[in-house]
Amino acid sequence: MRNWIGAGIAAAVLAVPAGPARAWDHFAHMEVAAVAFKDLTPATRRNVARLLKINPRYTNWIVGAKRGDEDRTAFMRASTWADSIKLDPRYTSDPPSAATAGQNVGYADRSRHADWHFVDQPISPDRTPVVPARVPNAATQLPLFRAALADPRAGDDLKSYDLVWLLHLVGDVHQPLHCVSRYDAADRQGDRGGNAVRIMGNTPPPVCDDPRFCPFGPPTELHAFYDDILGAGYAVGPPQQAAERLPRPDPKLAAVTDEKVWIQEGLELARSAVYVPPIGVGDGPFAITPEYQKAAIDLARRRVALAGARLARILNETLGK
Ligand SMILES: [Zn+2]
Repeated sequence: MRNWIGAGIAAAVLAVPAGPARAWDHFAHMEVAAVAFKDLTPATRRNVARLLKINPRYTNWIVGAKRGDEDRTAFMRASTWADSIKLDPRYTSDPPSAATAGQNVGYADRSRHADWHFVDQPISPDRTPVVPARVPNAATQLPLFRAALADPRAGDDLKSYDLVWLLHLVGDVHQPLHCVSRYDAADRQGDRGGNAVRIMGNTPPPVCDDPRFCPFGPPTELHAFYDDILGAGYAVGPPQQAAERLPRPDPKLAAVTDEKVWIQEGLELARSAVYVPPIGVGDGPFAITPEYQKAAIDLARRRVALAGARLARILNETLGK
């Protein structure tokens, strides 16, 4: 569990079984959604808006939205729903061995499905034995959601549920540490996407509009460092503005809609750009340099821009009719 989560939600956090929080912060998820929303066709926007209204949290999402901007605000906030149920007492944590762990049945499903947020593809720099990625995971669920959204026989309840999961997971798998677990002598069970790797010397998230998330300073482990590197918080304005300043992604890469390719990219980026000096083998703590932090910000911005473009393309293909 991230140890920087504020005391204000400590009670809610205590209700969650032990295990790492693993997700881009709300900020980056909403930034992905803001990028995608710009590229949605009018027909896609209409279909998406209709489906999002079925989610039980819809009225919360549009609190404070400017008049006429409800659809975009809901779309951005919907991208955080899969994380918000981790703290919702109406939902329960399901072990990956449960018979229902990989089901896709819509909002009647009150499981948190924490294992859907990542794919622990193993890497080992020191030849420590590895185990294959556990299932279900993001790689098993993304195709199910996409198929249901494209299926004319699927009901709107299921499509709405799958849409909010899709909005979230397209973001998650573009965070390289959601695509790997590193095995080494210090982590024979894997580091769970850098959750076991301690860091120091990094600066806090550049944006933090929610005092629950930032009173204890910068993240102290590698996974959270990447999750929060672009910002933290739940306000819609800052990620919306940040999305406007992102680089345009390479059109050839933006056209890649096969999630298997995205997840493989994440693995390769983890090797080539994340687990590189000053991050060594083992659990650290490793001192983050300004150069490493700047490169990490640039990487995160490129991944968010690409995730948003790809998400829009998928939605236009499946919901643009
Ligand atoms: Zn997530």
